[in-house]
Amino acid sequence: MVRYPYLLLDADNTLFDFDAANHAAFAAVCRFCGLENTPERYDQYESINSGLWEQLNRGEVSKDYLVIERFRRFFRLVGLQADPEACNRIHLQQLGSSTILLPNALEVCRQLAADHKLYIVTNAVAAVQRRRLAESAIAPYITDAFISEEAGASKPSRAYFDYVMGRIPGITRENCLVVGDSLSSDIQGANNAHLPACWFNPQGLPRPEGLRIDYEIRDLRELMELA
Ligand SMILES: [Mg+2]
Repeated sequence: MVRYPYLLLDADNTLFDFDAANHAAFAAVCRFCGLENTPERYDQYESINSGLWEQLNRGEVSKDYLVIERFRRFFRLVGLQADPEACNRIHLQQLGSSTILLPNALEVCRQLAADHKLYIVTNAVAAVQRRRLAESAIAPYITDAFISEEAGASKPSRAYFDYVMGRIPGITRENCLVVGDSLSSDIQGANNAHLPACWFNPQGLPRPEGLRIDYEIRDLRELMELA
């Protein structure tokens, strides 16, 4: 039985191995700048980057600001004279060509697409994400993708999900399921928009207080039973 014919799937770290893509993009920037790529430097960059993305999710900074500022701060921290705009272009170019999927993502999308409509809901730079989606193995199973930059709003805002709901014929607040790994954008967003939520929690992190989580899965294959 199909319970949720419309699936709103997060992309990064839900279907795509974003950590692998992010590592490869950071390595490309290091090569470009002649900077040695060490785990410590990656952690420094990623801590700056994820802090800025959290600010973006709270509506405190813009995407255009974030993509440059992360490199500006990182270069200041490591004492490197480099062009943050050029490095961001290199970074986005590499990210856009990374289409590594997480385990089981392809198989699950293929099977679900037989009797569900699959949509991507993602906070991302549109040009990068469109290219990754188009070049990825799951492309034939995805009906459409809603990218925050094009929506003019991002997860977890109600405005973002209103934009998505307004563009899917036949969708209701009962017949769709939001699936994602991020509590602060996917699950919070589903709660804000009063949509059913499935938390993809492969690491078995503790369940938070104060969020409605209708389903929790450790493996994407569990979706085939519950959706
Ligand atoms: Mg994610």
